[in-house]
Amino acid sequence: MAKTIFEKHSSGRKGYTLWENDVPLTAADCLPPKYRRKRELKLPEVSELDVMRHFLELSHMNHCIEKGFYPLGSCTMKYNPKLHETLVRNCGLVNIHPLQPEKTVQGALEIMHELQIMLAEISGMYNVSLQPVAGAQGEFTGLKIIQKYHEQKGNTQKDTIIMPDSAHGTNPASASLVGYKTIQIKSNAKGMIDLEELKKVVDDSVAGFMITNPNTLGIFETQYEQIAKIIHDVDGLVYLDGANLNALLGIIKPGQCGFDILHFNLHKTFSTPHGGGGPGSGPVGVVEKLSPYLPYPIAARCPDNECYVLDNSHLETSVGKVHTFYGNFLVYARAYIYIKMLGAKGLKRVAENAIINANYLLVKLKDYYEVPYPGFCMHEFVASGRKQKDEHGVKTFDIAKRLLDKGFHAPTVYFPLIVSEALMVEPTETESMETLDDFIIAMIEIAKECEEDPEKVQQAPTNTPVKRVDDVRAVRQLDVKFDW
Ligand SMILES: *Cc1c(COP(=O)(O)O)cnc(C)c1O
Repeated sequence: MAKTIFEKHSSGRKGYTLWENDVPLTAADCLPPKYRRKRELKLPEVSELDVMRHFLELSHMNHCIEKGFYPLGSCTMKYNPKLHETLVRNCGLVNIHPLQPEKTVQGALEIMHELQIMLAEISGMYNVSLQPVAGAQGEFTGLKIIQKYHEQKGNTQKDTIIMPDSAHGTNPASASLVGYKTIQIKSNAKGMIDLEELKKVVDDSVAGFMITNPNTLGIFETQYEQIAKIIHDVDGLVYLDGANLNALLGIIKPGQCGFDILHFNLHKTFSTPHGGGGPGSGPVGVVEKLSPYLPYPIAARCPDNECYVLDNSHLETSVGKVHTFYGNFLVYARAYIYIKMLGAKGLKRVAENAIINANYLLVKLKDYYEVPYPGFCMHEFVASGRKQKDEHGVKTFDIAKRLLDKGFHAPTVYFPLIVSEALMVEPTETESMETLDDFIIAMIEIAKECEEDPEKVQQAPTNTPVKRVDDVRAVRQLDVKFDW
């Protein structure tokens, strides 16, 4: 492994330094003495060039979309154009403060208002609140809205949310957090919701149904209208987990298909660099009858149409705030730019190309890895390493690590839970055919290695900066400091 910056220390080396500051008050002077460092900080002494090389090298140690293909299923790791990053660093966007008077942030409010309208148009929903800061928080908000709807109607018996067994783990977690019981129903042999199973569990206690479409197997749930009818017949609401919206853009509008609420993952579908924990954004869209329950404030036009305001007028009926102020503004700005740059036609091509890329990989890999639910997929598909495990003792985990040796980020593994040794592949629309072909070659090479030299795969990764880590030890004896 590369040397740390401390090991590169050599007394007397330094980079360019400015002369002593002769301005009396610095930030350090403002710090009360009791908070000040008692001893000189022991920093490594290194040249400017050493520092440059050190940080450049560090930046190469992690995988990122700019370094290589990143087919992490369900996460939509598309390339996020750098143009957006340049635009959102505009000081008019970066240097504003949530407590500024509305009349001084009209441009920001206009961006929010227009984004709400564009998301409503894309989803076919009546109204949108941008406030939630993650998909999971969007789920929480949507479920709070479901709860509020039943409260207002006096539906006191409603205490259950149903979802399929392919649901993302955040779905049952969000439902529990809101105080609902959850029922998971088994998917059928096609990997879709089983209507008979659904009918068996639906009764008056059902508050709502959570569906992901396309589902986490990358399969489009074609029976959404029947499902919505079954749920609506007991006055339940249908929640769409919109994490997979990338496959639907410009093709269908969930609001016109019987879904009552959905969340968007702006950081996935609408291009904000993600991974590593944020910031994200999970706006929630609803049909008209649920609009009064949305979190406040919502960016709105003034009555005279001449300006924009933060509208709190539904405060009495709202589920309340789910975040301070109005959420993660710069993520909205990126989504706004992304949608404006692509336009309606461009967004549709995003979905089409994401679907074509996934199907290309599926067709090319299905002779080498099991695909439990074959047939066309949407923007992603789930393969399985079961054959490699049963026949050669190589686990999916090993295959994932071996891909790192070949310069690719692994697909999502061991999810969804209903596929054993799952490998969930989502190429996204931003990859060229050449990149997909390179990935296919790597996957086929690994399948061959599993047969001919399984140990090589089991010991991977061997040419990454960090070799295979001991996950169990890392959890039990976490040690992230460097003693110098
Ligand atoms: C990513 C994802 C979520 C959660 O979204 P976050 O923004 O990570 O909180 C929920 N459901 C599915 C299917 C997802 O892929």
